[in-house]
Amino acid sequence: MGISYFNSLTRQVEPFVPLDPAGKTVSIYTCGPTVYNYAHIGNFRAYVFEDLLQRHLEFRGYTVDRVMNLTDVDDKTIRGCHAAGLPLAEFTQPFKDAFFQDLEALRIKPADHFPAATEAVHIARMIEMIATLIERGHAYQADDGSVYFRINSFPAYGRLAHLNLDELRPSGRVNSDEYEKENIADFALWKAWSEADGDVVWESPWGRGRPGWHIECSAMATGILGPQIDIHCGGEDNIFPHHEAEIAQSECVTGHSFVKLWMHCKHLLVENQKMSKSAGNFYTLRDLLGKGHTGREVRYALLSVKYREPLNFTFEGLDAARSALARFDEWSRRLQDAAGPAAEPLPEDLKTEAFGAALDDDLNASAALGALFELIRETNKRLDAGTLTPGQARSLLAWRDEVNSILRFESEAVAIPAEVEALLARRAEARASKDWAGSDRLRDEIAALGWTVKDTKEGQKLSKI
Ligand code: AMP
Ligand code: ZN
Repeated sequence: MGISYFNSLTRQVEPFVPLDPAGKTVSIYTCGPTVYNYAHIGNFRAYVFEDLLQRHLEFRGYTVDRVMNLTDVDDKTIRGCHAAGLPLAEFTQPFKDAFFQDLEALRIKPADHFPAATEAVHIARMIEMIATLIERGHAYQADDGSVYFRINSFPAYGRLAHLNLDELRPSGRVNSDEYEKENIADFALWKAWSEADGDVVWESPWGRGRPGWHIECSAMATGILGPQIDIHCGGEDNIFPHHEAEIAQSECVTGHSFVKLWMHCKHLLVENQKMSKSAGNFYTLRDLLGKGHTGREVRYALLSVKYREPLNFTFEGLDAARSALARFDEWSRRLQDAAGPAAEPLPEDLKTEAFGAALDDDLNASAALGALFELIRETNKRLDAGTLTPGQARSLLAWRDEVNSILRFESEAVAIPAEVEALLARRAEARASKDWAGSDRLRDEIAALGWTVKDTKEGQKLSKI
């Protein structure tokens, strides 16, 4: 059985087929943080879901090429830098740094590219794309000096969000002081400079100003990954207008269908409520670490509910994550103690495939964790009864490492890399056959990876250099 994911565009679970004719590489674009503040745990639900997606594809043998942008110019960042009395770049830098630290704490694999909207190469592409849109009649400069996308020129507008286009496209010009636009739903590609922008400004063929948020993502996505992308993700609030606008802009410039598969995660709620500063239930990762929770526990809590189900974040949930991870650690320790040097095939009734199969089924993480803990329960029973062989324990450790390449649940203290474990097993074999030269060579290889191995009566003991 292959992989299937839910496509927000067709509203169906579809078999996953990459655009790459060789069927190997998958491109992913994910809307990254707006760096005007620390990212909150709702944002991190989206990033952890995207991490799970990437790692699942890699587990199934694909090579992922991933872009996550940093929105470092928009209304919020501009407001923030003026309030702080700092130049824009100086204001956003600490939030960019904090974001990367948070990604690491949550064990989220860094994207291959982290473009920032204000980089000259991306601003140049935004301007180029807007010029093409104007040339082709998809955009116009209004009396207020700003450039807008003409949604009436793109019949597919509204398809991703499944919106009624007639409601979106009232005929005739809207007569309102507030709107200089032909249509109330036309969105800004280039915003003419206003006093509130201060020194945040770029030159363009349409005068001084700055890009709109939507064109930033279209420019970075198509500029780095090309006109067609396999998967584009974000939280569900990104669907409209942001992703709808990205489709319109990109397709009108490139002439290609922009994205094959749209994936969105449902929002995170805190104690069943929308997270907001005023409700006092607004948390950043730092808040939770400050309360004594670990990045690994938060990762577990964010992963444990399938991305298309709403996630109700609670402190009981974090406590449950802590006990589940303690069980996982204890199981790993027991397997390590029981394992012999050589792996043996596992008996059929230890169902290791159920984990991957659950993820293949539209990233059903809760079912995958169910399968993992069922296997833990079953092997613990056999360890208690002394019926798990040392070879089976070794195979289960190898399987745990595969599972961990997706979940990244290893404990902070003793995460022994799979490579070191493999060398250790080979060294035990060498010693059993009295190949002392081989044993010494393997000890050096292990040392080169940052670990020392000592030979004791109980066998080899490993410690970090
Ligand atoms: P922003 O920094 O607001 O542009 O959001 C960054 C990402 O976090 C986007 O993909 C949003 O859709 C996502 N996001 C924002 N709030 C939540 C939430 N409460 N739950 C899940 N994802 C969210
Ligand atoms: Zn975006």
